[in-house]
Amino acid sequence: MMKAAFINTNLVKPPIAPIGLEYVAESVRESGHDVSVLDLCFEEDPETAVMRFFRGTRYDLVGLTLRNTDDCALASRVSFIERFLSIVSVVRNNTDAFLVIGGAGFSVMPVPIMKKAGADAGVWGPGERAVTRLMRKLEKNEEWGSVSNLLAKSDGGWRMLRKDDREEYPDFPFHRDLVDNRRYFREGGQAGFETKRGCSKRCIYCADPVSKGRTIRTRHPDSVVEEIQSLLTQGIDVLHTCDSEFNIPPGHARAVCRRMIRAGLGDKIRWYAYCSPAPFPRGLAGLMRRAGCAGINFGADTADAKMLKRLGRDFRPQDITHAVKACAAEGITTMIDLLIGGPNEGKESITRSIERIKSAGPDRIGINVGVRVYPGTPLHGMVAEKDCGLVGNGETYDPRFYLEPAVAKEVFDLVGRLTRNDERFFFLDPAKDDRNYNYNENKKLVEEIRLGARGAYWDILRKASGE
Ligand code: SF4
Repeated sequence: MMKAAFINTNLVKPPIAPIGLEYVAESVRESGHDVSVLDLCFEEDPETAVMRFFRGTRYDLVGLTLRNTDDCALASRVSFIERFLSIVSVVRNNTDAFLVIGGAGFSVMPVPIMKKAGADAGVWGPGERAVTRLMRKLEKNEEWGSVSNLLAKSDGGWRMLRKDDREEYPDFPFHRDLVDNRRYFREGGQAGFETKRGCSKRCIYCADPVSKGRTIRTRHPDSVVEEIQSLLTQGIDVLHTCDSEFNIPPGHARAVCRRMIRAGLGDKIRWYAYCSPAPFPRGLAGLMRRAGCAGINFGADTADAKMLKRLGRDFRPQDITHAVKACAAEGITTMIDLLIGGPNEGKESITRSIERIKSAGPDRIGINVGVRVYPGTPLHGMVAEKDCGLVGNGETYDPRFYLEPAVAKEVFDLVGRLTRNDERFFFLDPAKDDRNYNYNENKKLVEEIRLGARGAYWDILRKASGE
């Protein structure tokens, strides 16, 4: 038996429970090791907390997670990586344990982070099997570099010898008892759960397939329900899926909903999901509603047909309207996220997109100006060829955005004009913050949750505005 510790480095408020870390820690415990969790999210002084944690205790392996690389907003461009690296460095100075780093953010750009982190190994993608296999090797003093999805040092650089993006979920249900989920719920207003991993679509900017894999691995609906029931016994009854898109594939979405309905969860919990506007087959909204779904965030990006194609989306503008109306008919609240300023965007496409979305009738519309350029995505290659339109510079991992030069100068004014008299819009204009929906350090959200609000952040902000 080895002694392992897992450290959550995400300090963002409102706090978001480290679901990936908890899944990995549970898997390691399930395979017979001793497990502790150090959660820096609620610590006043993370550095001192790390020193206190390691004082007098020896660990064989320590894992640290990076959930997000940055706040993904062009107006603020706050990177979380330097802070992560400094925590890794404090940990390194306080333990001689084998140090492994991973997480969804890390997995978007593992090599540049490994080069700076001073860790012994990195985990690309889900870590449950990779970390337990690594521990088995370490315990037997065996070479571990060929374990799937691990980055190891080789020829002076960091490499992954075997990538496996088909890796199935561990075959036991997660109990969600290693992190203080009650406190996260109290201060963060919701809890996450997964029904699948990965996305096979090819949207040009999206880092999810890079980070979580292109093969969709679904989870058995029984296992999803057991996990939700564990959270429910902790008093946590408002949840959000962490799936890239809950409705892809639709057959699995339906199976999960039916299982939830059969377990009687529809009357006991409220949950939210990210969905694609298509496929959104007839009857899905009704099933989701009966399973307890209260709101859906559709990442539509645009309602202009040409821009949809350019962004690699495979649905039509009318699919957005159809999905929104199907949800409204069932009493599901909807939010549409738009992405403005992608390659070849023009004033006309922006205007067309915003006007169409207004008439589709969602409850809220979020606008992001500038498209985050992540390494490993098709957009990354396109931008290198175009040699213009890039905002931001610095290290490979610093936030960089593409903003179409043809609209860059006037885009904020234009979007401001098009959305001014419509209260449904969230829009982060660097000149004002009255419609801010950047969730990082969002004081309004923190306060609403403190006062008892629960739900998806966009829905909490919607209700706070008086609806
Ligand atoms: S935007 Fe959604 S559908 Fe497209 S690749 Fe990302 S997760 Fe998949």
